[in-house]
Amino acid sequence: MAQLIDGKLLSAQIRSEVKADVEKRVQLGKRAPFLTVVLIGEDPASASYVKAKAAASAEVGIGSDTLRFESSISESEVLALLARLNEDPNVDGILVQLPLPSHIDEQKVINAIAPTKDVDCFHPESVGNLVIGMDGFQPATPAGIVEMLRRSNIPTAGKHCVIIGRSNIVGKPLANLMLKKGIDSTVTVCHSRTPNLPEIARQADILVAAIGRAHFVTADMVKEGAVVIDVGINRIDDPTKERGYRLVGDVDFEAVSKKASFITPVPGGVGPMTIAVLLQNTLKASR
Ligand code: NDP
Repeated sequence: MAQLIDGKLLSAQIRSEVKADVEKRVQLGKRAPFLTVVLIGEDPASASYVKAKAAASAEVGIGSDTLRFESSISESEVLALLARLNEDPNVDGILVQLPLPSHIDEQKVINAIAPTKDVDCFHPESVGNLVIGMDGFQPATPAGIVEMLRRSNIPTAGKHCVIIGRSNIVGKPLANLMLKKGIDSTVTVCHSRTPNLPEIARQADILVAAIGRAHFVTADMVKEGAVVIDVGINRIDDPTKERGYRLVGDVDFEAVSKKASFITPVPGGVGPMTIAVLLQNTLKASR
């Protein structure tokens, strides 16, 4: 039976470390770090992520502000807002909650955030730094995964890490982190055009599922003793719940946990780690 990697517990450790560093800064007479979040439109999931980010910031002493706009805001208004925030010396980190309404070019918006304030690590300069192994902001979800492995004493050097999913926010940056000197995994990235995916997944010492499909990873795709990290967040109908649904990951947890050595739950796994890294990045931005 797999050992559970408790994302809530590990993220609480990181948050208390950030809190201690923020307190030290303030004791030295410096301003507390400040994060500005831009929320456009009415997407309930985005609203709840933004709320969680603001609450987590407050808890560690990071100031934050959420600027909310109707989905009718124009692209040029968003770009002008970012230009102002880039120049504002009281704003350390800027985060534009994605996805954006379809009339706004997401990449253009990401490119307009000053790389020194890019706490989501989505700007091409931040991504470039990550690829060449330079210090800089950490991509939140991938760095959260690496922290989970590190804090659970799971070795990564020479291990075969198979990542299912090649998105710009999870799969690709995670592949770069796992390849980094010091982490030293051998990395394979799979996606929807990978024909022999189950066969490749079965070779993984560390298997990461970042697909967005409930229960995609079944027990027959997992090697005995593998470490399984479930990034997916999927809603499935559940009439026994008051809200009519529950959240599940991309992994068939019940069956896979009988085979894996370590596994992350959903919820309470990778999700809380993502926010913890965002706080680390905001603290870094203030330095
Ligand atoms: P994307 O939709 O951007 O990417 C999904 C990836 O999965 C794509 O690369 C896609 O391949 C691949 N994929 C889809 N279907 C299949 C299939 N049948 N076989 C193989 N590969 C497939 O999603 P994200 O990376 O943004 O997110 C993935 C999941 O993680 C979602 O559930 C999301 O909610 C969750 N998430 C959780 C976070 C957290 O903090 N816990 C943070 C970010 C995301 P292709 O490129 O070929 O289309």
